[in-house]
Amino acid sequence: MAHPNHWTSNGGRPIGGRTIVFDLDGVIADASHRQHFLAAERFSDKDWDGFFNACVDDPVIEPGHRLVGSISDDFCVVILTARIHETREKTVAWLSANDVRHDWLILRGHRQGGPSTEWKREQLELLQEAGADIELALDDDPRNIVMLRDSGLAAMYVHSGYYDDRDDGVEFR
Ligand SMILES: [Mg+2]
Repeated sequence: MAHPNHWTSNGGRPIGGRTIVFDLDGVIADASHRQHFLAAERFSDKDWDGFFNACVDDPVIEPGHRLVGSISDDFCVVILTARIHETREKTVAWLSANDVRHDWLILRGHRQGGPSTEWKREQLELLQEAGADIELALDDDPRNIVMLRDSGLAAMYVHSGYYDDRDDGVEFR
């Protein structure tokens, strides 16, 4: 199946088969130094450009980096991130510079605002339609963990602390 053109291959492995999906920020990339760009309460007041452009300076999160690097070649590794497509070049360079194991990178479309959860749900469905058997997905946003589990997928929560001060009323076990 043809894949959406905002999906970026790393190495030419086809989509499909046993698949593990990793979020990027807060799981593999340490975005804590740029969270201050999002301090404004109102969504439209947040400095999204500043937030995304600073991604080049992210350190790796060592446990996440080692974990993704330990995934066997039996699995297709997909990095599914709500970073906007404008960061594609920076993100690809960062993944390469830090030798992050992955087969596909999925970035959000151009200037799509709003919470990432619905968008991620759609991408996961597209992955499944393309033949991906998603055995596990890891994310640091509690809303995405709820969405994953509601979708019948095995989800692993990674605590980044980025969402600790948000009162979304989201709880999960
Ligand atoms: Mg994240």
